[in-house]
Amino acid sequence: MDGANTPVKTVNVILLGPPGAGKGTQAEKLVESQGMVQLSTGDMLREAKASGTEMGNRVADVMARGELVTDEIVIGLIEEKLTSTDAKGFIFDGFPRTLAQADALGELLEKTGQSLDAVIELEVDDAILVDRIVGRAEQARAAGKPVRADDNAESLKLRLMEYYKKTAPLLGYYHAKGALQSVNAMGSIEEIAAQLADITKSLAA
Ligand code: AMP
Repeated sequence: MDGANTPVKTVNVILLGPPGAGKGTQAEKLVESQGMVQLSTGDMLREAKASGTEMGNRVADVMARGELVTDEIVIGLIEEKLTSTDAKGFIFDGFPRTLAQADALGELLEKTGQSLDAVIELEVDDAILVDRIVGRAEQARAAGKPVRADDNAESLKLRLMEYYKKTAPLLGYYHAKGALQSVNAMGSIEEIAAQLADITKSLAA
């Protein structure tokens, strides 16, 4: 029943996929449509860089090259968010990216009395990723907006390599835990958003 007093379960999901798969775009859609809370380690790191913190300065070159920053830094950022907020219903966007981060997230959720409800893989062919990332840079440039330092062909090559070496193993890890769902992420933004909204709604039911 859909009564007003029926408690709605909050859900926590991870969006997993290579650079350019649309994790950030779709996380924003879920924030709008489901009132979920986006936790993007990429955004947190870019903010640290923009505000010139010591950590931000330390990670800037690593990010621009397209390499991963250390597990310690990103786990620290997520731990701070999870332990300092009463918000519920998280979309993890760009975290975890290594098996160590995945283990740490599991422990943090357990410690804060929460569950991981699904890991949603956004499946996209490599050729499309390159077009999307290069297109994103061109659009930003045309609009006079800042272009991400890592949105260029050279960094993208490294980012893809980092993804396949370090992040893609998480697909097997979460599959083995029975948490993995895959979505074809090559359609329109709205089509994919509708599928993700359906998945999160069914998890909350
Ligand atoms: P994103 O905005 O998710 O594409 O992240 C941009 C860059 O930030 C990545 O290429 C990495 O250098 C760094 N980064 C973001 N999230 C992580 C993470 N979970 N682990 C390691 N590095 C990360």
